[in-house]
Amino acid sequence: MGCLAVLRGVVGNGARIQRRGGNCERDALVALMKFVPVWERLLNLSVVDPVSGCWVWIGATVINRRGDRYPAIKVNGKKKLAHRESWKCVHGREMPKRKQGAHACDTTLCINPDHIRGATPGSNQREAYRKGRKHFVSPNI
Ligand SMILES: [Zn+2]
Repeated sequence: MGCLAVLRGVVGNGARIQRRGGNCERDALVALMKFVPVWERLLNLSVVDPVSGCWVWIGATVINRRGDRYPAIKVNGKKKLAHRESWKCVHGREMPKRKQGAHACDTTLCINPDHIRGATPGSNQREAYRKGRKHFVSPNI
């Protein structure tokens, strides 16, 4: 079976890979990155926790200035937050910029769209305090 046939089998309908010679495997990978929808990559880069139902991210991560680690994925060459992309795939639209992807499950690496709500930064912060995920800093005496 040729390279093209294998790829077509993997990525399904419509994806036409032009072989320009060179390393078949590398070409195939590059082509896959282009053609496989974001959703499929999200699924492939997460594992389901049977207890919490969280889709725990195993791909690249970014750390925000508070030291929390968040799932990162490249879409069209741009680094995006994977849980926001996951939300987008399910809701069919971009999460509004002013809203953060709040994790109802408190697992910042979770990308399960059922666990992610659009929340305003304010309400997300309040919830973090309420759940004890975040603590007010008391001065060291
Ligand atoms: Zn979760």
